[in-house]
Amino acid sequence: MRALGFVGTPCQVQGLRKLQALGRLLGRRLVERVELVVGLFCMGNWSYPCMAGFLEARGVAPEEVARMRISGDRVRVSARGMELEFPLGEMRKYVKMACRMCLDFTSELADISAGSTGSPEGWTTLIVRTPRGEEVLHGAEEAGLLELMEVGEAGVEELQRVARAKFERSLRRIQSRVEQGDEVPHHATRDLGSLEEALSRTEGRGFRELWRDIVVSGLCDACGACSAACSELEMRNGMPRLRGRCPQDCSLCYAACTRTALPLRALEEQLELGELRREHLGRYRRILAARATRGGGQDGGAVTALLKFSLNSGVVDEVVLTCRDEELKPRVLTAKREEELEGCAGTVYAASSPLPELRHRVRLST
Ligand SMILES: Cc1cc2nc3c(=O)[nH]c(=O)nc-3n(C[C@H](O)[C@H](O)[C@H](O)COP(=O)(O)OP(=O)(O)OC[C@H]3O[C@@H](n4cnc5c(N)ncnc54)[C@H](O)[C@@H]3O)c2cc1C
Ligand code: SF4
Ligand code: SF4
Ligand code: SF4
Repeated sequence: MRALGFVGTPCQVQGLRKLQALGRLLGRRLVERVELVVGLFCMGNWSYPCMAGFLEARGVAPEEVARMRISGDRVRVSARGMELEFPLGEMRKYVKMACRMCLDFTSELADISAGSTGSPEGWTTLIVRTPRGEEVLHGAEEAGLLELMEVGEAGVEELQRVARAKFERSLRRIQSRVEQGDEVPHHATRDLGSLEEALSRTEGRGFRELWRDIVVSGLCDACGACSAACSELEMRNGMPRLRGRCPQDCSLCYAACTRTALPLRALEEQLELGELRREHLGRYRRILAARATRGGGQDGGAVTALLKFSLNSGVVDEVVLTCRDEELKPRVLTAKREEELEGCAGTVYAASSPLPELRHRVRLST
């Protein structure tokens, strides 16, 4: 079976980890042999039409954009050879509803997490969480692909401050929803001790209930875990859709969704996370800054360098990741060569649904 790597936002990483745990629990092959999970830091995301509409309203066609970057409270766009800058506040109001209730900034369930917060410009902050994360970081440095630097206590505190701000903002929104009588299950189930306990709350609910409870209620983050769990589903415009009819009365899609139940502590227990823990940063082994010695990237290009090492050294045979198409739309791609990884460097500020592709790769390789 081919070994896979994966890069994604915190919600996508949660979806992947829940699918892995669910597969183990049910004795089914869902997404096993994912050997490396790189999680990104994430403050929020947009649907493609919102992101494209934001740019068009400011006279920039998405296909003209060479690079887009959110830094502090500014959106920086390189287009037509010019550098344009807009206040992030103007874009923030279009952030997906699910992102406003998301509690994870640093991809707490990844092998290694990456973002710009905490490091100087041109560097990537890395949170190394598992032995696999350590192995790949060490290997990339040894191979001369990465330069490393301490971020120091000030960098870690900055990271924690930003993560806490996201958590508290989302928590306020969740609490006000709960006060209005709406459920927010991914928050209510965070501290449950086992996946079984979490799943007992989802029994007897199928796609019809998933659509009503998660999609219509605005909790869906478009990760695609439901669609990865059931071949009767597909992701269309960032939403799960039934291709035909539900062939059986089952609740696998409801069980797979991270928004119907997310026993974070139980999922953590299934990983070999480091013993260090800081509130809102999760468990880890070390935090440092990294920069690729060659090739570009959104920040330090460290994610692409780590993936290159993993591919070239045989840790993984292919990597499922998100890149942009000519119109700046997110496109899920399976990279098997270094050049494909390089073509996917950079951030696409629009939600993708990569988990069905990951599942597809697992099916192909078995
Ligand atoms: C929607 C979004 C919001 C983010 N918000 C923050 C933030 O608030 N603060 C912060 O510090 N960092 C944030 N990041 C992470 C940051 O933009 C960089 O991805 C990170 O610093 C790694 O930089 P790099 O140069 O090492 O990565 P690179 O070497 O450039 O690699 C980037 C990787 O990200 C993947 N990718 C790009 N777009 C997406 C996407 N939409 N979904 C899934 N994967 C994608 C690519 O496939 C590529 O493998 C965000 C990322 C995304 C996708
Ligand atoms: S739900 Fe939104 S904010 Fe949370 S990880 Fe996913 S894209 Fe980022
Ligand atoms: S058949 Fe598929 S879509 Fe229908 S309830 Fe089961 S998992 Fe969900
Ligand atoms: S409904 Fe499907 S796509 Fe939406 S959050 Fe749940 S698993 Fe992810």
